[in-house]
Amino acid sequence: MATEQNKLPAIISHCKEYGFIFPSSDIYDGLSAVYDYGQWGVELKKNIKDTWWKSMVYMHENIVGLDSAIFMHPTIWKASGHVDNFSDPMIDNLDSKKRYRVDHLIEGFAEQLAANSEEASKAILVSMDQLLSNDDFAGLKQLIIDHKIKCPISGTCNWTDVRQFNLMFSTQLGSVADDSDTIYLRPETAQGIFVNFLNVQKSGRMKIPFGIAQIGKAFRNEIVARGFIFRMREFEQMEMQFFVRPGTQKEWYESWKTTRMQWHLDLGIPAEKYRFHDHVKLAHYADAACDIEYDFPMGFKEVEGIHSRTDFDLTQHQLYSKKKQVYFDNDIDETTGKPYGNYVPYVIETSIGLDRTILLVLSEAYTEEDLSTPEKQDSRVVLKFPNKLAPIKLAILPLMKKDGLSEIAKELMNECRESFFCFYEEKDSIGKRYRRMDALGTPFCVTIDHQTKEDGTVTIRYRDSMEQERINMSDVRNKVMEALK
Ligand code: ATP
Repeated sequence: MATEQNKLPAIISHCKEYGFIFPSSDIYDGLSAVYDYGQWGVELKKNIKDTWWKSMVYMHENIVGLDSAIFMHPTIWKASGHVDNFSDPMIDNLDSKKRYRVDHLIEGFAEQLAANSEEASKAILVSMDQLLSNDDFAGLKQLIIDHKIKCPISGTCNWTDVRQFNLMFSTQLGSVADDSDTIYLRPETAQGIFVNFLNVQKSGRMKIPFGIAQIGKAFRNEIVARGFIFRMREFEQMEMQFFVRPGTQKEWYESWKTTRMQWHLDLGIPAEKYRFHDHVKLAHYADAACDIEYDFPMGFKEVEGIHSRTDFDLTQHQLYSKKKQVYFDNDIDETTGKPYGNYVPYVIETSIGLDRTILLVLSEAYTEEDLSTPEKQDSRVVLKFPNKLAPIKLAILPLMKKDGLSEIAKELMNECRESFFCFYEEKDSIGKRYRRMDALGTPFCVTIDHQTKEDGTVTIRYRDSMEQERINMSDVRNKVMEALK
């Protein structure tokens, strides 16, 4: 049985064995922090995307979607501050030649220290935060030296100075390599939304407040990428930028905090698994920011960021593109009795990592159950996904191939497959097939047997309780549809 400590390795191997997630380029020994989604992973991912899209776009009349390109004009990243600021302080160990994010190295040390002294551990973290907020790199190195923090690989304290390292991947546009042709793989999807703000507002006749939502790939050259799909170099984000009238950003920020936390709770995940982490040190573009953290197998970590980004991005793009990014608000300002007029809108951003959400859902669903009886040792691994996220909704299992049972099963398959994803399987014993469906997280299995031929009933088996009941085959589709609502 996996303990909390080895739950993550257990999830990783389960994902590979059952076709959810594979290391990228597996036959070439993988590519660090890059992963491929297999046949069931891709369904899980799609269901999470659909749930987010539905709740953000379909359920809000004033939010529309966008799919902007990954490649964008390089000046965008100058304007956004990514060329100059999107970097992390790093330090190299001269013996192991390994590079570390300074905050991760110190946090790792503080975590070990906490076993002996909570206070000492907290004190280091407070000093670190102070030094980071002052960009005091010499001070950070001194902190590492003073506490004799060792490289986990070489075990030595032979450190370089602390330096900034930009996280953007660059590449060349066109056939001739030249500095002026350098473009970047986007490190976030947000900027694609900002530079399309007026296109969408004008073509969609959108009135403030309104939002633009986007799901797409982002790329970051993370130095220490670990935690399976928690920190990847190529990942997906689900972001929404909400444009508001200046002065109203505080209330919208609070309102989106509540809405986004509710989305998480609506997945059926208990509230005690989440917490807000309010940022003390704010990014250069923000006037308020927090993370929604989930209790992953490796502890509470960020899954989503909510940021009040002021008018920073639009103002910067106005400056660099020399194109006005203003909105004309003809609503009447009650204090002046006149229209609000032209302004650069403020922005509230909600940004959630799709892959991190998949890890969250897997962590919550992964369950090992001991089913031993005095007569027999037994256990099962079951993924208790919420019904709407389960890759396969219904497995249709004829008891045997012959006697016309597979024909009846295929009839049911044809009746249901337009409404939800069904899986047909006729190999192996029923017991083995049930266990396999448990491991894939399929909430319903239906068995077609000889009695089906006589009275049109089937056995439906429920994943979590493992209970079985006989129902009319003609009711199966509606029963599953009902459960998906
Ligand atoms: P972190 O502090 O963990 O590096 P961040 O604060 O830089 O994350 P944001 O820039 O706010 O993250 O991005 C929004 C979301 O995108 C994060 O909450 C996270 O879910 C996801 N995300 C960011 N970086 C990665 C990554 N390297 N791999 C997977 N998901 C990521």
